[in-house]
Amino acid sequence: MNTNELAAHWMPFTPNKGFKAKPRMLTGAKGMYWTTDDQRQVLDMTAGLWCCNAGHGHPHIADAIAQQARTLDYAPCFGFGHPLSFELSERLAKLAPGNLNKVFYTNSGSESVETAMKMALAYHHAQGNGGKQLFIGRERGYHGVNFGGISVGGLTNNHKAFGQWIPNDHLSHTQDLELNAFSRGLPLHGGVEKANELEKLIKRHDASRIAAVIIEPITGAGGVLPPPLGYLKRIREICDQHGILLIFDEVICGFGRTGDVFASQTFDVVPDIMTTAKGLTNGAAPMGAVLAGDHIYEAVVEGAGSGVEFFHGYTYSAHPLACAAAMATLDVYEQEGLYQRGAADGEIARYLEQGLHSLKGLPGVVDVRNYSLIAAVEFEPRSGQPGATGGLIQTAAWEQGMMLRSLGDAIAMSPPLIIEKQHVDQTIGILERSIKQHF
Ligand code: PLP
Repeated sequence: MNTNELAAHWMPFTPNKGFKAKPRMLTGAKGMYWTTDDQRQVLDMTAGLWCCNAGHGHPHIADAIAQQARTLDYAPCFGFGHPLSFELSERLAKLAPGNLNKVFYTNSGSESVETAMKMALAYHHAQGNGGKQLFIGRERGYHGVNFGGISVGGLTNNHKAFGQWIPNDHLSHTQDLELNAFSRGLPLHGGVEKANELEKLIKRHDASRIAAVIIEPITGAGGVLPPPLGYLKRIREICDQHGILLIFDEVICGFGRTGDVFASQTFDVVPDIMTTAKGLTNGAAPMGAVLAGDHIYEAVVEGAGSGVEFFHGYTYSAHPLACAAAMATLDVYEQEGLYQRGAADGEIARYLEQGLHSLKGLPGVVDVRNYSLIAAVEFEPRSGQPGATGGLIQTAAWEQGMMLRSLGDAIAMSPPLIIEKQHVDQTIGILERSIKQHF
């Protein structure tokens, strides 16, 4: 395609001018590989945008979407329903931990976050605590791009032009290179101390004003930061002590990324509300789902009079094609054993861990961190160009046939859960060459 043909599309989260001068065009995908417009095979080490957990082009998922399009292409979900969304909800509730038994559908992770935040406000309102309106997020947290999400998110670029309009405060991020550099699995040090910061924020604002704490069990887009040991449990304890809801944003972590269906199972901490998207449909159809605890639903829905109880929803909530994609995706995860395949102590996660940590000692590498099948390598910032190194390594890898995510001075990996040892070997080889090219 020539430059004129690229002009009309304003691309999201993309340096548009850079892309249009040198496009990276994907034309097909199968299993672990993309096909590009110049017929190269590119290894997908990111599962797209952390979403194609079963690999690309799975025939069971493709067939389910095609068949659904011919049977019931659309059904409004305000006051009407279709059976598939109820079947899917029952299935998700069975997979979820604790009492997360009520499922509300959205079309994306961002919409799941907004929905979860509104649920928290509606819950407190229903209980006569309408003053609880403030949300606590975390530095380097990413919760999508809508106004709630950027208020609780902790990535400055995402809100500096737009503001943070929902009352908010933020916990510190959990990275500590002095204590925990080159951690394999969960960082060992400082977890409880970091979590105790929440008590300071509660003192600052008072629990009577705080609706919820929202965090990713593993910070993803903010740099892949697995929670230090004890951190999540301590956050849960403090929330319970103060009547503050806990929302886990599992948009990346859900559906096998941590070796269980959900990270809350891996880390044995059950939130009050959980957001999901991405892996729910293997990326093959836009869909998110918010799983709410029974207590949330009971307060908001059972406790209300007749009529609409929760004034919220989307034209495409529970879209039939997305429901079909999700049902088929869950079949694939189950049939191919993918939820557990990437477990932190499993063969493939250990192999990736070993390979990545072998990069320690290469020039410019200041950290390698990983949990299960999510990992990052961090580099020294270049003088005068902080935040540029990840992009340089990403480009070098792309030119050698591998897709990575660049996150400032780090690169992140979250491969499809079908990854094999040969793909890890290919990854380490390309990474080594790319690092040597730039340092
Ligand atoms: N929450 C988390 C933790 C995410 O990683 C993302 C996207 O990467 C989102 C929310 C937003 O999801 P979406 O891009 O589908 O709106």
